Amino acid sequence: MSDIPEKRDFLYEGKAKQVYSTERPDEVIIHYKDDATAYNAQKRGVVSDKGVFNNAISTHLFELLAQHGIATHFIEKISDREQRCKRVSIIPLEVIPRNWIAGSMAKRLGIQEGTRPPNAICDLCYKDDALGDPLINDDHAVALGVTTYAELKEIYNTTAQINALLQAEFDRVGIVLVDCKLEFGKDAGGDLLLADEISPDTCRLWDKATLKKLDKDRFRRDLGAVREAYAEILQRLECMG
Ligand code: 5GP
Repeated sequence: MSDIPEKRDFLYEGKAKQVYSTERPDEVIIHYKDDATAYNAQKRGVVSDKGVFNNAISTHLFELLAQHGIATHFIEKISDREQRCKRVSIIPLEVIPRNWIAGSMAKRLGIQEGTRPPNAICDLCYKDDALGDPLINDDHAVALGVTTYAELKEIYNTTAQINALLQAEFDRVGIVLVDCKLEFGKDAGGDLLLADEISPDTCRLWDKATLKKLDKDRFRRDLGAVREAYAEILQRLECMG
């Protein structure tokens, strides 16, 4: 561990994380909580140690992406629940590559969950709780003034690379990456960085052999054994060398 900046002010409370400023204007400390929410926070709960598992899982995956040249906000894990990250301004878009069809896409289009599409799919949603994070298209995103066509091109290219790397990593440990939600931000220099987290809160992860759900759908759908699922994802990533 190197040169950890001193924690200063509480900046922001998200549903699963808190963000603090540090003595360095270009760095923040992100604290992972055990709080779980679903359906735009209409359903709330606590999953004990979720913050510890997600911090470790996200760290593992951000480090993997960095090794493959993906620019992310992650600098280092500094404690069980905390990461040191670059400060970014978040682009209010959720970028969702879907490898198998599930969740909102299955429901909206009447497709059986678990169907494997013949083509690559990437959803774009406007990150706005009051509106329920609506599905939008590129033109809407540009009209909203949150991005440009050139930036979207970079976002989609980077998303395809990230999705391929994550799919391969999860496949290595016997897990299907069904879909995931990515968020991007820009640092002070205007460079695009992958931000937020990559964890069972933000990905659908199914056991390859049994298709058992090992992600937040266990909480959303009251399937039980939520903590055990998150623990299993971490154990597989860290122990299956
Ligand atoms: P869906 O659109 O099917 O509900 O979600 C697609 C993927 O993005 C799932 O892996 C889901 O966990 C993730 N996702 C979408 N919206 C959110 C959100 O607001 N919060 C979190 N944590 N994940 C989301």
